[in-house]
Formats: sequence, structure tokens, C-alpha cells
Amino acid sequence: MMHSESRKVDTVELVKDYLKNPIFRDATLIQSEILKCIRKVLDEKGFVELLPVTVSPITDPLNHPHFETEFEYYGQKYSITKSMILHKQVAVLVHKKIYIVSPNVRLETEDKMESGRHLFDFVQIDMEMLNASREDVFEVMEDAIIYTIEKIKEKYPDIIKKYHPDLKTPKKPFKRYTVKELKEKYGDNYEKLASLNATEPFWMIDIPLLEREFYDKQDPNRPDVLLDFDLIYPEGFEEAISGGEREHEYEQILKRMKLKNTPFEQFEEYLKVAKEGLLEHSAGCGIGIERFTRWLLALDHVEKTRLFAKTPGKHSI
Ligand code: AMP
Ligand code: MG
Repeated sequence: MMHSESRKVDTVELVKDYLKNPIFRDATLIQSEILKCIRKVLDEKGFVELLPVTVSPITDPLNHPHFETEFEYYGQKYSITKSMILHKQVAVLVHKKIYIVSPNVRLETEDKMESGRHLFDFVQIDMEMLNASREDVFEVMEDAIIYTIEKIKEKYPDIIKKYHPDLKTPKKPFKRYTVKELKEKYGDNYEKLASLNATEPFWMIDIPLLEREFYDKQDPNRPDVLLDFDLIYPEGFEEAISGGEREHEYEQILKRMKLKNTPFEQFEEYLKVAKEGLLEHSAGCGIGIERFTRWLLALDHVEKTRLFAKTPGKHSI
């Protein structure tokens, strides 16, 4: 266990680093362009940008160990948003295509400090489409990624040459591999090894039923897998996106929650809406902005992609 002093990032040194190390200037410039480009592609495809929900009595239960962020307000328990997944399922009933530049707080455990991929406060562009399939989501996100890379190479050739000179613009359609075939080829460490072996981003599909949360849709024809996916970056940079088609039928949601021992109480308000039959079929995903920046610049850690980054196990302003 670390002492709290050694966890503390020296603020004066941090500010000096911002001023003398060009990496922060370069990475934030690229990140600003990423946000502009993804917004442009989604806007042109008719998506409506909504404002983020940052606190709510319901949020993503997540599928991995982390600390909770609960606080009480006039007798009601709230959490800081871990993802807007359940809110997206409602918001997409109001506008058929939506996205949110969504800050997420996930109090990741300190073993993630050196993963290079984790912050405990990060931003994802979270999108959702009504009556859509995962193929529809692939189409939108492939366009967004390709456009962003083309634009950044055109606008900031010197930065790309300095950090990631062999960055290739991927071609549509991105390849798809099932988790089953990746496991057969690479064994348990399939995500890392498949990423290291790849030269372009690829979709990893058909994630086993119990490996994801209740809101990702079970394939009605192959009940041991979900109609969901991750996008994996090449060159060892691993996960870029997670998403899927969604469960929307009350009985099915209950069944899926039971399978994962999800406590119903925390999702009471969401379940009421589902029981009323108000939810409809949708599909969507979230792309981590810091991770996209990290890959484009081939950086060792996402903490270099933003100012005041919050690295698991460390304290910073
Ligand atoms: P999820 O749906 O939980 O996979 O989150 C959506 C996306 O957000 C992921 O695919 C990552 O790109 C990004 N993301 C998730 N957790 C973190 C984290 N702790 N730090 C940085 N980015 C993250
Ligand atoms: Mg994920």
C-alpha cells in the first residue's frame, strides 16, 4: 500500500511539466480536433447532441472491480455517472439519434495505475440510435474514426510525424472477429495479443453472455452470446469502444439482472419505465476520448492526453 504523500502529484512540478514538455500541448491540440471531427460526422448524420447527466440515482453497475461514488442528497442516494447507458435508452425515445460528450467517474483500483489505458475521470462520446443494429453503429463509428484520422493527418502532419509516423488510415469495413475465434487463436490474453498483431482497428463481436452487463442484448438465436462488441486498436493499444444492441423488454431485463446478481433496488426507476413498456430497441456505443488521443499519438499513458488527468491510485488537482 502506498503512503498518501507518494500518491500525491506535485502540483508545481506538474504545471512546470505542462509548460516545458510539448507532449501536453500537442496531445490536447489533437484531442480538441478529435472532438470537433466526431461531432461533425455525427451532426451530419442527423444526431442530436445532448448535455451530460453527471449525477443520478441510477448509473452503470460496471463489470469490473471499482469503488462507489455514492452520496446522499435530502434522503436520496446519488452516484456520479459511470456511464449514461440507461439514460441513453430513454433519451433515444425523444430523438432517434443522440450523443453526449459524457464525463464519467469510475474509481478504478490502483492496480490500473500503469495500465496506460485507465483514468478514474475520463470522457467518452456516448451515442445511441433507435431501432438500429450493431451494423448500423459500426457504419457510423467507422466513418467517424476514418474522417478524424484523415483530418488530423491533413491539419497536423508534423505532430503525427513526430509521435506516430506510420499511423495508417483504416479502410471500411473494419474486420470483425468473434471472441470465440480470438480465444482459440490467442488463449486467455486474446485482447492484448490480437491488438498487438493487428495493423488496423477491428471489431470484436459476440461477447459471452456473462462477461457483460444486463443491458447488452442477448442474441435470441445464440443465447450464449450478446449482440455487442468492442473496437480494438492495433499495435497493442487495445480497447477503443464498447457497445451493443440493448435489452428493452422488462422480463428479459429482469432475467439478465438475475443472471448477474444485479441488485434490483438500485435500478428501481429504470425498471418502472421498462415495465411500463416504454423502452424500444436501440443500439449504441461509447468511444473513450483519451484513449483515441493516446492511440493517434502512440503515447505510453492516457494521463498525457489531458491536463489535470486523474490516474488510478494518484491524487492530482
Ligand atoms: P465501457 O462501455 O465501459 O467500455 O466504456 C466506454 C469506453 O470508454 C471504453 O471503450 C474506453 O474507450 C473508455 N474507458 C472506459 N473506462 C475508462 C477508463 N477508466 N479510463 C479511460 N477510458 C476509459
Ligand atoms: Mg468496455
